[in-house]
Amino acid sequence: MKLGEERGKEEIQCCFSMDEALELVLIFDKNGNIVYANSAAKQKLEYGDALCGTPISEIFPNSFSVTENGFHTDYEFGEKLQDLMAYRKNRTCFCVEAKILEDQNEEGNYVCMANDASKRDFLEKEITKVEQEAKQALKVKSEFVANVTHELRTPVNGILGNTKELLEKEQDEGNLKILRLIEHGCKDMNGIINNILDFSKLEAGKFTLEPQKFHFRNMMDYVKANHINKITEKGLEFFTTISPEIPEYLIGDELRIVQILNNLLSNACKFTAVGKIAVEVLKTSQVNNRIELYFLVVDSGIGIEKADMDKLFKSFSQVDASISRKYGGTGLGLNICKQLVELMGGNISVDSEKNKGSVFSFSIWLEIPEDEMEGTASNINIHMPFGPIVDLHGNTEETGVKKYGTAENLQEIKNKMSKFILSVEMENWEKAEMFADVLKQLTQEAPKEVKNGVLKLKMAVQKEDYEKVQTAYDVLQKLF
Ligand code: ADP
Repeated sequence: MKLGEERGKEEIQCCFSMDEALELVLIFDKNGNIVYANSAAKQKLEYGDALCGTPISEIFPNSFSVTENGFHTDYEFGEKLQDLMAYRKNRTCFCVEAKILEDQNEEGNYVCMANDASKRDFLEKEITKVEQEAKQALKVKSEFVANVTHELRTPVNGILGNTKELLEKEQDEGNLKILRLIEHGCKDMNGIINNILDFSKLEAGKFTLEPQKFHFRNMMDYVKANHINKITEKGLEFFTTISPEIPEYLIGDELRIVQILNNLLSNACKFTAVGKIAVEVLKTSQVNNRIELYFLVVDSGIGIEKADMDKLFKSFSQVDASISRKYGGTGLGLNICKQLVELMGGNISVDSEKNKGSVFSFSIWLEIPEDEMEGTASNINIHMPFGPIVDLHGNTEETGVKKYGTAENLQEIKNKMSKFILSVEMENWEKAEMFADVLKQLTQEAPKEVKNGVLKLKMAVQKEDYEKVQTAYDVLQKLF
C-alpha cells in the first residue's frame, strides 16, 4: 500500500502501525466476534487468518462468554492494564497484560491491546532468583572471608607471641633488629586481616556497634599514645585539643571510635614528611542526652587533588597506583571509617590541597550517661568547619557580621563558651580582605596582642601572601 492512495495519510499510518505492532491487537464487535486481528495476534494465538470471525470467548474463556444475545464479561473496560489468560488455538494458554477499550463510534466495537506477560513473569521470576543468588553468594563470600581471616589470624598471632617472647630473651642487636621487623610485619598483617573482616561484615550488613560507657579523655590519650612515637620520630609536631564542654564519660562504641581515629592518624603520619599533625574534638550539638562530637584530623602532608577526593571513601580506592607502591595499604581504611561514622549517625569528609595538607573531619552522635547530664547545655552549635557559620540558635546568615546570641543569653554564652573558633573558607582575596576588616571591627575592644594579630593578618591578606596569612591566622586562633 502506498502513502497518499485513496485513503488519507493518517488512516494508512494507523493501519500500518497496528499491524506492525509487537503487541496483540484484536477488535471485536458487540456480538463478541473478532473482526480484526493484527499479525502479532494471528501469530501468537496460532489462528492465522482464521482469527477473524472467532468469538472472543475462545481467546479469553475465563473472562468472556458469548451467547446468541451477545457477550458477557466482568472485565472492566478502560485504560487500566489487567492480566488475562489468552488461549491459543491448540488450547494452551499464556498470560497477557491487556486493556480493552469501548469504541465510541456507531459500530460499537471493542479494541483489545495485549502484551505477552509471560516474558514479564519470567523476568520477574529471574530477577528474584538472581537476587536470591546474589544474597546467597554474598553470604557465602562473607563466611569464606570470615573463615580465611580467622585461619590467618591464628598463625599470625602465634608468630607474634613467639617473637615477643624471643625479643625479651635475645641479646644480640642484629637478631633483635630482625625480630622487631617480624613483630612489625605481624602487626601490619593483623591490621589488614581486621580491615578485611570489618569490611566484609559491613558489606553484608552484619556489623553491629557495641556501645558502652567510656572515659572520653582516656580514650583520646590512648589514641595519642598509639601515634606519638611515630609522629615525633618523623620530626613532626603533634597537637591535640579537646573541648572542655565534652563530658568526662560518654556512651558509644569506644573501640570503633579509636579505630577511625587510628586510621586517620596513621594516614596523616604516613603522608606527612614535614610540619604538623593535629587532632581537635569539639562538641557541636546536643539534643537531650544525645551529643554530637566533631573530630578534625589535620596534617601538613602531600595533600590530595580535588578530583581524587570523591574516590577516597570508596572501597579499594587509593589516589593512584604509585601511592600504593610507595606507601602501601589496601585502600579499605577510609571506606570502613565512612561506614562506621555513618553507623554512628554522622558524616565524614575531607578538605585538602595538593602539597599543602589535608583535613579529615567527621561527626558522630554519642549518649551522655545519666550521671553526667547535669550542667550540659542543649543545642549549642558553635563550630562548623567548612560549612556556614551557625549562630547559637542555629540561624545562618549569608553575609555580613554574625551575631552570636541574644542580649538575654549573652552572659550565659560567655560563661559556657571557653573557646570560640572561627573557620572561614576564603574563595578569593577580596573576601579574605572583607573578613580581615570585619575581624578588625570586632576586635576594637580586644587586648593589644589580639589587635596586633588582626593587623598582621590584614596586612598579609593585602599582600596576598598565603603563607603569612596562614601563620597569622594560626596565631590568632591561639590568642582567641
Ligand atoms: P590505605 O589503607 O591504603 O591507606 P585508606 O582508605 O586509608 O587506605 O586511604 C586511601 C588513600 O587515600 C590513600 O592511599 C591515600 O592515597 C589517600 N589518603 C588518605 N589519607 C591521606 C592523607 N592524610 N594525605 C594524603 N592522602 C591521603
